[in-house]
Amino acid sequence: MGSEQDETISGGERPDRGADEAPERRTAEAFGQPSAEAPGQPSVGAPAERRPELLGQPPNDMRAALAGFFERRGEPAFRAAQVEEWTFEHGARSFDEMTSLPLELREALATEFSLTPLETETVARARDGTIKHLWRLDDGQRVESVLIPTRDRLTLCLSSQAGCALACRFCATGYFGFRRQLRSAEIVAQYRESRRMARAELGRSISNIVYMGMGEPLANLDEVIGSLRTLHGGFGLGARRITVSTVGLVPGILELARRPEPFELAVSLHAPVHELRLELMPIEKRYPLPDLFAALRTYQSHKNRRISFEYTLIHGVNDEPELARTLADLTYGLTCFVNLIPFNPIPSRPEWRTSSRARIERFSAALSERGVGNAVRRPRGRDIAAACGQLRLASRQSSGQSRREIDAQS
Ligand code: SF4
Repeated sequence: MGSEQDETISGGERPDRGADEAPERRTAEAFGQPSAEAPGQPSVGAPAERRPELLGQPPNDMRAALAGFFERRGEPAFRAAQVEEWTFEHGARSFDEMTSLPLELREALATEFSLTPLETETVARARDGTIKHLWRLDDGQRVESVLIPTRDRLTLCLSSQAGCALACRFCATGYFGFRRQLRSAEIVAQYRESRRMARAELGRSISNIVYMGMGEPLANLDEVIGSLRTLHGGFGLGARRITVSTVGLVPGILELARRPEPFELAVSLHAPVHELRLELMPIEKRYPLPDLFAALRTYQSHKNRRISFEYTLIHGVNDEPELARTLADLTYGLTCFVNLIPFNPIPSRPEWRTSSRARIERFSAALSERGVGNAVRRPRGRDIAAACGQLRLASRQSSGQSRREIDAQS
C-alpha cells in the first residue's frame, strides 16, 4: 500500500509457537491474482530452476519439507529442529551459517533447498531514524521495505508485490504499474534482513509489521497468507502486531475474517463518496463502498477487532470537513480509527499538494465532533523518499534514467 510511511497502528500479543494509461491497463491483472511464479510480466534474469524455499514456510510445513530429505540420508529427526532454529531464531541467510550441522550436510541442504537471499541495492537513512531498504530480487526486480522507529515500537513496513496494478492516483508505486507477485519467502526475507540490521545497528527487535509497502497484499493472497503464518508461527510475531493494509479487495477481507489468527486490518479509504474515490482509486469500480463496508462489517463481526482507516489528505481534493462528516456516517456502527496522512507529493501529480495544517485540523475536528477517533500521522522519512515506491523512483532517476525512460519501462 503506497501511503506515506507514518507512525503506526496495532497492539500486542504473543503467538502460540508450534496511473495513468499504462497502470489502468494493468489493473485487470491484479484482479486475476496471477501467481508468484507466473506473473504475466517480464522478469529480468529469473533463475531457470529455483530450489524449494524453506524461508516462507511456517514451522509445520518446513518440518514436512525437511523430513523426507533427512530420512533419505539416514539423519536423526532432530536435524529438522536444528534447521528450524537457525532459520527462525538466528535468521540464517545460508546453510553455511548453520554451524551446529556437519559441513557435508550443510552442503547437501544447499543443493536441495533455498533460503532466499536478498541483495541490498540501497539503504537510505532519514534524519528522524527511518531506514529504507531497496532490495534486489533474484530476477532483478526491486522492492522496498522501511524500518520506522518510535520510542515504543520498531515497525517494519513490508512489500507484497513488485509494483502494483491498482493505480491509485496518489501513489508512486501505482504509477509504475505491476511487475510480479512476491513469493512468501521474498516477503519474509525482507523481515529476516531487516531484523538482522535492527539488532546489529539499533540494538532493537522489530515489534510490529505492516503490509503497507509496495503492492496490494490481498491481490497476492496465498503468498501473503503464507508469509503471515510464517512470521507469526515461525518468527513468533504476535498476530495483533501484524497489520494487513488493503485498498478494499472484498474476497481477501472475507478470507482474513475466516482465518483463525487475529491479524489487524487497515483499509486505505481516502474518500467517503463513490465518485471521488473512483477518481483517486480505480479499485472503487470493482468493489464500491457499499460492498467494501458490508465486507468490513462481516470482518468485524468475526474478529471483533478495531479496523483502521487510512485517509491521505490532498489539498482541495478530499479534505473538506463535509467529507469528514460523510466519512463519519459511512463508518457508523463500526469500531474503527482513522489515520489522517498529509499527502506526500509525487512527480506524477504535480498539481496536488499537501493539505494545509488548518485544513487538516478542520477535517480532524469534524471527525471528532461525530465521535470518530482519529489522529494526524506525522510523515516519516521525508528526506529519504520514504513513501512507497519513491526510493525506487529516486534510484532510477539518480542512475541517469530520464522520466521518459522510466515511463517506457513501467
Ligand atoms: S497503487 Fe497499489 S501500492 Fe499504491 S496505494 Fe494503491 S494499492 Fe497501494
